[in-house]
Amino acid sequence: MRKAINKYRQQLKDYGLKMLADGLTTGTGGNLSLALRTEGIIVITPSGIDYDQISIDDISLIDFNGNHLEGEKPSSEWLLHLKLYNMRPDINAVVHTHSRFATTLALLQQPLPACHYLIGVAGCREIRVAPYATFGSKELADKTVAALGSADRCILMANHGLIAAGKDLSSAYDTALYIEEVAELYHRAKAIGEPVLLNDAEMEQALLRFQTYGRKAKE
Ligand code: 13P
Ligand code: ZN
Repeated sequence: MRKAINKYRQQLKDYGLKMLADGLTTGTGGNLSLALRTEGIIVITPSGIDYDQISIDDISLIDFNGNHLEGEKPSSEWLLHLKLYNMRPDINAVVHTHSRFATTLALLQQPLPACHYLIGVAGCREIRVAPYATFGSKELADKTVAALGSADRCILMANHGLIAAGKDLSSAYDTALYIEEVAELYHRAKAIGEPVLLNDAEMEQALLRFQTYGRKAKE
């Protein structure tokens, strides 16, 4: 059990460093977690520690009631992660970032529309914007989880950032990365013209394709 948990702690540390390397975060921005449902444990990055300074033992463990079990103080967004796991049994990993282009749209409180088929990685036709609330608050957790709904795997958080979810850490992370890439492309296209959007039928076809695309099974 201990060995298994340390494996997941190591995964979170590695993905935190990957967020830095991929330019999805700076300093202590954003957070990551994994739900170990059979064990009743959520493994989550600690609050306010630079990703390149986090040690395995710093990674926090909480239970599904939010009790702190081990490690440093959990991310200030622990309740958002917890509520998401409680509402969505299909989700076992959550990645939150303030990545630049997605957050640019979040500042405008504008959704990322169907300008590229890759939006479909998030299981929806556009990336909507959840209403604003103070970071780390119960209000933010409630509003964001409600806005994400029962099927989408990514949403922008007004004047804050983005949250992506998946069946495992690699899926959640890839969604955050691809949506950031599409947000950048959208921004560039908007700078020189008006991007042509895919219609509902075209996005529907893309979503169907994603169900059988690559080595990853349908989420
Ligand atoms: P934590 O360091 O507490 O995870 O906070 C970072 C953040 O992105 C808050 O929304
Ligand atoms: Zn944040």
